[in-house]
Amino acid sequence: MLLTKPLTTNSNPEFKKRLRATVIKYSVILCVAAAYLVFVLCTGMGIPCLFHESTGLKCPGCGISRMLASLVRFDVVSAFWYNPFLFTTGPLIIAYLACCEVKYVRFGDRQMGKWEIIMWVELALAIAYGILRNVFPI
Ligand SMILES: [Zn+2]
Repeated sequence: MLLTKPLTTNSNPEFKKRLRATVIKYSVILCVAAAYLVFVLCTGMGIPCLFHESTGLKCPGCGISRMLASLVRFDVVSAFWYNPFLFTTGPLIIAYLACCEVKYVRFGDRQMGKWEIIMWVELALAIAYGILRNVFPI
């Protein structure tokens, strides 16, 4: 009987390589995000939105820095009103990305099959939100 190791064992070198790369990638992202958030909290300034600066309109992501700064201060109401769309759908985006990364680390594949529809719906809703927030300013 031929014994084969499953792809997800800790002894699989590709698994370890993908896990190390993913941990490093998200550690860097979290450190940069934390440094930026500390900067925003200390100075009250954020990176200006190029879309807003050039058009005067709000993009779907406008207010995310203030939203995150409010969340750090546990000011949930203000966080919601800075960007209601990302406040409500952000956890779904994070969960989806986490599932993609777990699948990648375990199997070397990020394709989520039918679950990818979630991000396409999210993208469509973000575009709709970007239009509606300029038509009906909130
Ligand atoms: Zn913007």
